[in-house]
Amino acid sequence: MIRVRFHGRGGQGAKTASRILGTAAFKEGFTAQDSPIYGAERRGAPVAAFTRFTRGPILERGLIASPDLVVVADETLLSDPAARVCEGVTDATAVFVNTMRAPDALRKESGCPGRVTTLDLTGLVLAKLGKVGVLSVVLGAVAARLVGFSAESLRAAVAEELGSLGLSPSVIEQDHALAAECFQTVPVVPVGEGDMGGAQPGRPASLWTPVYEPPTKGTARIAACANAPQRKTGDWRVFRPVLEPEKCNGCALCFVYCPEAAITLTANDRPVIDYDHCKGCMLCVEECPTKALKIEREATTAKSE
Ligand code: SF4
Ligand code: SF4
Repeated sequence: MIRVRFHGRGGQGAKTASRILGTAAFKEGFTAQDSPIYGAERRGAPVAAFTRFTRGPILERGLIASPDLVVVADETLLSDPAARVCEGVTDATAVFVNTMRAPDALRKESGCPGRVTTLDLTGLVLAKLGKVGVLSVVLGAVAARLVGFSAESLRAAVAEELGSLGLSPSVIEQDHALAAECFQTVPVVPVGEGDMGGAQPGRPASLWTPVYEPPTKGTARIAACANAPQRKTGDWRVFRPVLEPEKCNGCALCFVYCPEAAITLTANDRPVIDYDHCKGCMLCVEECPTKALKIEREATTAKSE
């Protein structure tokens, strides 16, 4: 069995990427299983999705703790403790990261073990589409290439998954081109054959019994007040809004729409963006009537100003 774990941020397309890989596995004749986990999270928060495939029945369920391949939608996730990207990763795990950096530099700085390979998917999407796009298809394409699927299976899976989302044929055709480019370009590293996670010589199977906590402990609740500012959601950002002051008319719409309250106003109603907490959702850019906010790609180093 091969186990693939996708890490992304809410809105980047990790779930659809896992579905594309799962469907491509079916096209290759495998049994496949895919599932996401994201709970009641906000756009930009770390999410994960899982794909398993094998020749026989799949008896495992749930999270993948020991992946054969980890696909990371952007490198900021590596330093986000909530994402737990490197959990279960060993020297034998293949790790793909969407980044402008070379694999060796990334491995050294992040401390993430594994056979690391990288490609600047965000730059590729920007170059092709001229705008920030969802990464599901390119992530799925990279995963399909690394696990050794054919370009035909990938194309069929992309058509099926994007078709089921109701996308137009012209958009799907654009995505096919993007997928093909990533499929051909990504530097390949070996993805090892996994195991069934059960009984093996020297590794007896064990059964786990879930332990349930009392409702007051097991139910999510807010136990401390006014601590949201301590969570630096600026770490979630891949793109940042930047104000062009000469175009701003002071209408304050960006201030009203920002879901993180990351915009304040000066005494003369000009916006100031708190980059420690701006998560890069770009709602302010969408809502600004004078196009006074432009989108800039984050530098790959420290984000806060
Ligand atoms: S400042 Fe803009 S991009 Fe940042 S969180 Fe607020 S609305 Fe989103
Ligand atoms: S929405 Fe645009 S024009 Fe209005 S205050 Fe914000 S940046 Fe200025």
